[in-house]
Amino acid sequence: MKKENIIIIGSGPAGLTAALYTARAELTPLVVTGMQIGGQISLTNEVENYPGFPEGATGPELVEKMQKQAERFGARLIMDEVTEVDLTSGPPFRVKTYGDEYEADAVIIAVGASPRRLEVPGEESMIGKGVSFCATCDGFFFREKDVVVVGGGDSALEEGLFLTRFASRVRIIHRRDELRAGEALKKRALANEKISFVWDSVVEEILGDEKVTGVRVKNVKTGETEDLETDGVFIFIGHIPQSTLFEEQLELDELGYVKTDARMMTSIPGVFAAGEIQDPVFRQISTSVGQGTAAAMMAERWLEEQA
Ligand code: NAP
Repeated sequence: MKKENIIIIGSGPAGLTAALYTARAELTPLVVTGMQIGGQISLTNEVENYPGFPEGATGPELVEKMQKQAERFGARLIMDEVTEVDLTSGPPFRVKTYGDEYEADAVIIAVGASPRRLEVPGEESMIGKGVSFCATCDGFFFREKDVVVVGGGDSALEEGLFLTRFASRVRIIHRRDELRAGEALKKRALANEKISFVWDSVVEEILGDEKVTGVRVKNVKTGETEDLETDGVFIFIGHIPQSTLFEEQLELDELGYVKTDARMMTSIPGVFAAGEIQDPVFRQISTSVGQGTAAAMMAERWLEEQA
């Protein structure tokens, strides 16, 4: 079993920032990145609200810079996935990945969240056949095609706007008649000629066999059901925390988020959490970066106290 000072699980903005700070504290952190370095932002095309980038930046660009900066000070990234943890009999805490088994004196959990599903017929079976959770990844395949976007938050509008680069028409299906998204995105989406809205409607089924041919939507006010023909369904209805690995060991809230105190410590001393795995409210790159910083500083202090 390999022995580490600190293991950071996850490589989104929270994980990479925790890696930078713990590396600069000479803890030579090991980051188990998961299968997608950067997590959700690596799938984001345009980031306009991260300070320091007045012209905006792409998600992959930010991830690359964050990774380089952490590695410059000695962080080690391994592309692997954690399959099992034993946090209750530590420290040292045990972390098992597909490739290895480790012991660490401290752990920072920054595994983020994954896209929420509609849980309607046709959704799972049609992934890759017209159903997508990532416009940056799949938008290109819908050149001059018709797509629908489900959701009314910032993600739905931002990704819907991105899809107008390719698709001939983008209909945004929202379950209410008021958008949750912020004013700037709202204005841009409402002004875009390719975008129209299907208000007060929920998707009941995704239609098609070999590929998506349409969606069955129900108007929640009138109860009427209608089939809309379309080539693609992009779903952006929020995220759920990826806390399954920890649910028997750490205290979680009723939505499954890992509970942390003001010092980013979980219910087990020496185990910290940062980013979307513990934050159901802010969920911004900048807040995740801040939480990664705080978790790293507190982990460093905690390790010092144990020495
Ligand atoms: P979100 O803000 O939670 O919005 C989710 C949307 O999906 C809501 O409009 C919600 O409807 C709808 N929804 C949820 N469950 C649904 C279901 N089962 N069926 C149909 N519709 C459903 O999620 P998000 O848009 O992914 O944003 C997450 C966080 O990231 C937010 O804090 C957001 O501000 C941030 N973000 C920011 C930017 C940016 O600033 N550029 C970009 C992307 C994301 P209701 O409105 O009726 O609840």
